[in-house]
Amino acid sequence: MKSDIQIAQEAEIKEIVGIAQKLGLKEDDLELYGKYKAKVKLDVFEKYSEKKDGKLVLVTAITPTPAGEGKTTTTVGLGQALNRIGKKAVIAIREPSLGPTMGIKGGAAGGGYAQVIPMEDINLHFTGDIHAIGIAHNLLAAAIDNHIKQGNELDIDPTQVTFKRAVDMNDRALRNTIVGLGGSKNGYPREDGFLITVASEIMAILCLANDLMELKKKLSKIVIGYNYAGESVTANDLKVAGAMTALLKDAIKPNLVQTLENTPAFIHGGPFANIAHGCNSVMATKLAMKLGDITVTEAGFGADLGAEKFYNIKSRFANLKADATVLVATIRALKMHGGVAKEELKTENLAALAQGIENLEKHIENMNKFGVPIVVAINRFPDDTEAELELVREKCEKLGVKVALSEVWAAGGAGGEELAQAVVELLENEESKFEYLYDQNSSIKTKIETIAAEIYGADGVDYSEQALQQIEKYKENGYAKIPVCMAKTQSSISDNPNLKGHPSGFKISVKSINLSAGAGFLVVMTGPVLTMPGLPKRPSAEEIDIDAQGKITGLF
Ligand code: ADP
Ligand code: MG
Repeated sequence: MKSDIQIAQEAEIKEIVGIAQKLGLKEDDLELYGKYKAKVKLDVFEKYSEKKDGKLVLVTAITPTPAGEGKTTTTVGLGQALNRIGKKAVIAIREPSLGPTMGIKGGAAGGGYAQVIPMEDINLHFTGDIHAIGIAHNLLAAAIDNHIKQGNELDIDPTQVTFKRAVDMNDRALRNTIVGLGGSKNGYPREDGFLITVASEIMAILCLANDLMELKKKLSKIVIGYNYAGESVTANDLKVAGAMTALLKDAIKPNLVQTLENTPAFIHGGPFANIAHGCNSVMATKLAMKLGDITVTEAGFGADLGAEKFYNIKSRFANLKADATVLVATIRALKMHGGVAKEELKTENLAALAQGIENLEKHIENMNKFGVPIVVAINRFPDDTEAELELVREKCEKLGVKVALSEVWAAGGAGGEELAQAVVELLENEESKFEYLYDQNSSIKTKIETIAAEIYGADGVDYSEQALQQIEKYKENGYAKIPVCMAKTQSSISDNPNLKGHPSGFKISVKSINLSAGAGFLVVMTGPVLTMPGLPKRPSAEEIDIDAQGKITGLF
């Protein structure tokens, strides 16, 4: 079996100008980053403003387990398969962060015969967007400490600065730091810390902005902390939103690359899926919809987080209306939901599978609440047996939901034709009646409780004293009528990572609520979230290498 990077390096990559031509773009519409990567200029949006949008397909998944689900692989493979059956499909996905690439999880460019290329470039710096986001972030951080040092006209309370610094690396030593040491020349000493750049609010903002001026407006609204009177202080107060936007002038332009089968793919932005909304940029999705007949996009984590936020947050801010939901399931993960240990997954186990399917069933029920037609994609792994695949098929048919086998990892687009046909049938025959799950003008508690009851199946919500106080504070400051972004474990539909399958008889506990005023949502914390991951004992970085010819090995 070839490794992902071997497959990627053997692919017949085409010049990006030709890929862009397939979408009707001219070389003048592009900013080339070498031969195989390009950014699309912003005036293209104006050129296409009158053109009707193509269809939008969201790929999401059951609750993730260590067995792997394959959302990106399915997204890329489905795009390839749609092209094979004669459709003009475009892919829109997130860009990988260097933290996981060097750490434990690896890159994020798909897998097997469903990958985006050049895989090495995409996983290593790509077009520099994440660096630009980090610098824009750190400009604001520097402005805060400089302001305090230069007389603190805004009366910023140094103990109440919530905006940390950022770097795109898994570096746990930077989680808690002290800045300003060394005497008055060096500023005012205070406790600080770092986020990984993809957890920065700037990343969420870049991904939710509809255009450059909206980006600036959103950046100006970032709340960096509070003054001594307890009032919020913003990036606008520090007068740096303009410079931050200038630093992001290129990062905001969607990046165009291709798949192993030369299907056009936009890879742009990559916010966290817990403290942020977990999808590629609005601008990439919208551009893909202008240029292609079918756009296939992905949301992070399971459908309880990724799809819920895609529909309630991203779709609301960008006025998107998806036409189909693809819900990815694997036999392996369903068996884990049915109680099988990771080491035992290679053995057929129909009883555990039948039990674990309840997880899929709950996600189907949840996705139906958004009114978007659904197809379940079974992402086939090498050890899946015919009897196991048949069981999932039968169950879906009983539930009245379309199901298709996807073998894109092993066979590329050719392995995804059944899924592609199923998606096309939905697009042609079933109308999307998309609706949000909640009214953003309802109270903060109503929004949280609606998601807890409808999506998680919880019996109620418990709030900490701190969360209750924060709710009052946000109400007073005018931050109540915005969507909520749930920060919850990805490993369970509940807020307890150990509850597999379809948990019931639990309450959600809300520990605290943070404000992302620039991005435009409240982040509801149901447990601790690491916004600065650490490296594992044996990081992937130890395997990554480059030879004298510039050939890279060890990425996955
Ligand atoms: P997600 O987007 O859900 O996090 P990915 O598509 O990135 O998942 O896949 C995670 C890992 O699992 C990748 O290394 C990929 O190569 C692998 N993978 C995905 N689908 C399959 C499959 N059908 N068979 C074997 N490995 C797979
Ligand atoms: Mg993914």
